Amino acid sequence: MAFDYDLFVIGGGSGGVRAARVSAQLGARVGLAEEYRMGGTCVIRGCVPKKLMVFASAYPDAIEDARAYGWQAEAGSFDWTAFKGKLHAELDRLEGLYRANAQKAGVTIHDARAMLVGPQRVRLASGEEFTAERILVATGGRPFVPGKWADLPVLTSNEIFHLEALPESILIIGGGFIACEFACILSGLGVKVTQFYRGAQILRGFDGEARGHLAEMMRERGIDLHVGTDPVEIEEAPGGLRVKDTGGHEQVFAQVMFATGRVPNTQDMGLEDAGVVLGRRGEIVVDEQSRTSAPGIHAVGDVTDRINLTPVAIREGQAFAEAVFGGKPVTADHELVASAVFTRPELGTIGLTEEEVRENEAVDIYAASFRAMHSAFAGRSDRVLMKLVVSRATQKVLGCHIVADNAGEMIQLAAIAIKMGATKADFDRTVAVHPTMAEELVTMKVPVRTFP
Ligand code: NDP
Repeated sequence: MAFDYDLFVIGGGSGGVRAARVSAQLGARVGLAEEYRMGGTCVIRGCVPKKLMVFASAYPDAIEDARAYGWQAEAGSFDWTAFKGKLHAELDRLEGLYRANAQKAGVTIHDARAMLVGPQRVRLASGEEFTAERILVATGGRPFVPGKWADLPVLTSNEIFHLEALPESILIIGGGFIACEFACILSGLGVKVTQFYRGAQILRGFDGEARGHLAEMMRERGIDLHVGTDPVEIEEAPGGLRVKDTGGHEQVFAQVMFATGRVPNTQDMGLEDAGVVLGRRGEIVVDEQSRTSAPGIHAVGDVTDRINLTPVAIREGQAFAEAVFGGKPVTADHELVASAVFTRPELGTIGLTEEEVRENEAVDIYAASFRAMHSAFAGRSDRVLMKLVVSRATQKVLGCHIVADNAGEMIQLAAIAIKMGATKADFDRTVAVHPTMAEELVTMKVPVRTFP
């Protein structure tokens, strides 16, 4: 049977575009459908606009620091409208690049929602249908608002980039990446931020000491962070939304943002009818080669709910294309993936946490908490945390956790060494770069704790 396409990709985000582009470069005839904007969550309503907002939010502190360093500087006020205009112009530019690069590689883009109407057939919202030998689902995820609050005029990370004006106050619900990042961003931009997290400490799954350190830093920066707290009632009220929490307190916030996780975009796509098995959270179940349970249907990125990070989706898309159209037996590597939470200060992390290993193997914990030179001079109370989790048996560095300005940049470099299997002795024989914060990683001589 002659197919319209060798590959049809559903979703024009990081994973889908990479897979489409590389497959086309390897000679495949590729179609791609995107219902919203090319670039997906990362470019349009995630990493990119978020990071630009992180940059914007850092200026008040920078100006305060400038004064401490002898400059006569005034912060003035933040013009959200002007910033937002530039932000969206930049997103338009990047979207254009994504589109152009895919087209240059030979991908045919259909600006429409697509669904499966059989294992090798897709239908666009326009009614047009195409056959394809293989289909790749890369539809990502979307913010989830718990059902009982879903009908209220609350925000998610989707709406935050489109606000008419910055609110005077906001309640952010959640303790994950997005909640913590936006708590810091909005606080930096002058919004009075309250954050509720239902658990005992923010950023579940990260290293305990790093979580505690960051929570303290966030509070010091003025974020009213309440752990063990959840809303029990939210109702519209003059001036915004009145929220009653599990502690019995009531307060009115101009806006409420839910950052309570994301769910895979798998609804109403004809996946199950095409034989694709979904997991408990609606994610597409795939094997290590990103194959679903239906022959010829593959899936990459957040829709598979493996490691929901842009660079991972890109690796999965690349591996899919190289394996299927390049004949190389490659798979994406999900081991030792570094990541950063772009809070202020940032949290950079790779590998195992102290909590993950200390029950199972003998480990030595090296950690240093100190005031960085820049902050100390500026009179800031900020402290940096540098931490290594080291296996006593192999001496390998199993985990590295950094809470510091620019920890995202630092962990990227530490990740190379750790991925290569560096031991503590390798760190120790690396001469420090002085004066830096990161030099602490190679100068910690004595463990602060040992297990057992
Ligand atoms: P996360 O899974 O990181 O966090 C969700 C948070 O919401 C958790 O604190 C969770 O609590 C809480 N929560 C979930 N359900 C409820 C509920 N019903 N009521 C109250 N609280 C609830 O999701 P995010 O949306 O923040 O981010 C999604 C993913 O996107 C991240 O996991 C990450 O992979 C990626 N991301 C990466 C970024 C980066 O690399 N810098 C930035 C932003 C996102 P609990 O812990 O108790 O379950």
